[in-house]
Amino acid sequence: MREVRLAHVFVDRFPERLDQGVVYISVPFALVTHLCCCGCGYEVVTPLAPQEWKLTFDGVSVSLHPSIGNWNFPCKSHYWIRNSTVHWDTRRADKEISTSRAAAHAVSRAPRTGPTAAAKSAMPFSISKWWAALWRHKRR
Ligand SMILES: [Zn+2]
Repeated sequence: MREVRLAHVFVDRFPERLDQGVVYISVPFALVTHLCCCGCGYEVVTPLAPQEWKLTFDGVSVSLHPSIGNWNFPCKSHYWIRNSTVHWDTRRADKEISTSRAAAHAVSRAPRTGPTAAAKSAMPFSISKWWAALWRHKRR
């Protein structure tokens, strides 16, 4: 797959519309969000926490750990963001993706198509509730 370079921006609140290829980092919310790097338009939300994701900012580029496994999106893409560069998992082994910690937390609210029924049922209830609460908070 093609190499994708990402930009990053530190924000207090996430904008209504995200730009493709930009990683939005909210320190107050301890959240990172970006549009799926495959270009499908789905939004990936990665909470920053000791048991969730870790963001590394070296002053120039950002890295996220662990990987981003969007198995509940139609694209089922799986990649790492290291030094603002997307490293694709070319194996795309379903078994591996389904065990990825990232997978359970990928949340979609893509405006064009919306999550599929499968994606909705795969979405943990607590996460969608959490997202709804956050979304209300952001709109105030
Ligand atoms: Zn995608």
